[in-house]
This record gives sequence, C-alpha cells and structure tokens, in this order.
Amino acid sequence: SYVLVTGATGFIGAHVVDNLLAKGLKVRGSTRSIKKGEQMKAARPQYASQLDFVVVEDFTKIGVFDSVMEGIDAVIHVASPFFYNTTNNEEELILPAINGVKSILKASAKAGTNVKRIVLTSSFASIVDVNSTPGPDFTYTAQNWNPLTYEAAAAPTATSVVAYRGSKKYAELAAWDFIKTEKPPFDLVTLCPPMVFGPVVHPVANIESLNESNAGLWAVAAGVDPLPGARVPAWIDARDLAEAHVQALLRPEAGGKRFLPAALEPFSYEYAADIIKSKFQWAKGVVTENYVSGTKPSFPYGVDGRTVADELGVKYRTFEVTVVDFIGQVKENLA
Ligand code: NDP
Repeated sequence: SYVLVTGATGFIGAHVVDNLLAKGLKVRGSTRSIKKGEQMKAARPQYASQLDFVVVEDFTKIGVFDSVMEGIDAVIHVASPFFYNTTNNEEELILPAINGVKSILKASAKAGTNVKRIVLTSSFASIVDVNSTPGPDFTYTAQNWNPLTYEAAAAPTATSVVAYRGSKKYAELAAWDFIKTEKPPFDLVTLCPPMVFGPVVHPVANIESLNESNAGLWAVAAGVDPLPGARVPAWIDARDLAEAHVQALLRPEAGGKRFLPAALEPFSYEYAADIIKSKFQWAKGVVTENYVSGTKPSFPYGVDGRTVADELGVKYRTFEVTVVDFIGQVKENLA
C-alpha cells in the first residue's frame, strides 16, 4: 500500500516524500518530469524499495490520475502552479489548480480504488483578506476565507499574485464541494500554510530554478535592493510543513478539518537580511544596507499557528534556523 504524493518533485512535495519515507511508509510520487523523478530516486538509494515515480502530464486535463491509483491508500495532493511570471492567469494558474484537485478527487473516488484520506496543500492565500487591516485584536484561524471572487481573480487586469490567491481558494473550495456533493469513501484534510521557506531536497538545476518563495529569500542574500515587503508576516519551514501534512494523514481525528500551519514567530525580509549578515561572512557587503536593521518583525494581526502545534504535534523551527540552513545550502551548492 502506497501514499500518492503529487508535486513530489517540487519544493514542498519532496519534503513530504522524505517525511513519509523516514516514517517507513511507501511512496508513489507523481511528477511531470521523469528526469526529476529519477534524480530524486537516485539521491535516496536507501529508500529504493519504498519509492517509485509516475509521470502525470499537465493536469489541466481531467482524468490524468486515473491510471496511477492502484495500491494507493491515501493521497497528499501538493501539486499546483505557483509562479508569478504568467501571460494568461486563468489558463496558467487558476484552471490547472482547480482541475488538478478535481482530477485527483475523481480518480480517488473511482470504483476499485482504496483511498481513505486526501490531504490537500491549500494556502494562507485562501484564508487572508489582503485588503483589510484587521489589527492586533484579530487572529486569523483556519475558519477564515479570503473574500476574493472568482471573477476578480480571473479578470485580465488582475495581477498574477491576485490570480494565484484565487487559484488556491477556488481549488480548495472545489475539494470541499466534492466531499459534500459526491460523498466519496475518503475524507479530506486541508492545510493552509503561509510563506514556506527552507532547504531544498528536490532537484534544482540552478539558482534560477529555485521555487518562488525561496527565490525571494535568496534574493536578499544576493543583494536585492530595496528589500521586498513581506506580503504576509507569517511563514513556516518546509520540514515542519511536511510533518504537518503527514500527521494530518496519520491522525484519524484530523479527518474533515482545515488547518493553518504557521510558525509562532513572524518574519520580514529585513530580519532575514540581519540574520544573513550576522551568520555569513561572505554576505557582508553583498546584502543591502538600505534598510533599518536590528528590529525584529511583529505581527500586525494574529495568526493561529498554535492549533496545528497542539492538534498535529508540530514543533516549529525558528526563522533563524530556517534562513541559516537554506542560505548556507544554496551558497554551497548553487551559487
Ligand atoms: P513548486 O513550484 O516547487 O512545486 C509545485 C509543484 O506543482 C511541482 O511539483 C509541479 O510539478 C506541480 N505542478 C505545477 N503546475 C502543474 C500542472 N499544471 N500540472 C501538474 N503539476 C503541476 O512550489 P511549492 O513546492 O512551493 O508549492 C507546492 C504547493 O504548496 C502548491 O500547492 C502551492 O500553492 C503551495 N503553497 C506554497 C507556498 C510557498 O510559500 N512555497 C505557500 C503556501 C502554499 P513538477 O515538479 O513536475 O514541475
């Protein structure tokens, strides 16, 4: 019996794969790239008998997962387009995100399959209302939904950032709707992480191929000026997020729930710059001085990361540990 991990050759998916393997579970990874799948397998010789890959072509087409469900007991659906250099937001971000979810749910519900639970990587983007400034008395929890409409997200004038937020909201909604209307023989757990950072364990050919969120953090070490503003102050280490996914799969009582995995400490790119300069000699004179250093960020509003710590038993790494592990890895291997 296998756990199917989609997006297994991406940043977060590969951490989920490693977490499952370390717990002794068998993993089938889906990828669009047989080469990346082979690279991931080759990098894990100790798990040769526990890990295989299947190629699933672009899931804008429904039906692409139907042939890979044999022997699958559970699915962790991580894959979804996450990049901002788009030419057509609806075609490149929104529809693939929604159809990917529909495709995996339909395939999992087909007669003859044995799927008991689906864990879905949604996003804090489907929770946060970026147009409101709620203040410190308000705390975002897994109960909140971003009020963005489909029409606004898909409008040709919408930025890719707005379209991405819509892609995650409407993909997650499609999953909850499927459960409600189709009543399949499996339950659903969704996770809504904010910015995800951390060392990479998936195949990354060069710095230009870093995933979107890590690329923004590396840019600080590479001297970007001015520093970007953080879109949200909340974040989580990819290794902690992987643990949240796997606990969400393994704990029976998690079924049917939506979770907000987020570190209890906020981040900012200024704080990242301070950490990088203080921990890496080579970064002095590279990281910009064009900011107010020495101030730790604070949350403008609350973000409930504690429920995941309590209910899924996740311990969060500090931002300093995450930054040092990631920046050190990239400098050594890719820069
Ligand atoms: P990556 O870009 O590294 O991974 C995205 C994965 O999705 C890749 O494995 C990619 O496949 C797959 N994918 C993308 N588009 C398609 C498509 N059209 N058809 C099939 N597969 C596709 O990014 P992350 O690991 O960061 O993102 C993974 C998930 O986490 C996404 O759902 C994202 O929305 C979510 N997320 C990420 C956050 C972050 O800060 N990084 C924050 C919150 C949520 P392949 O490897 O074959 O190219």
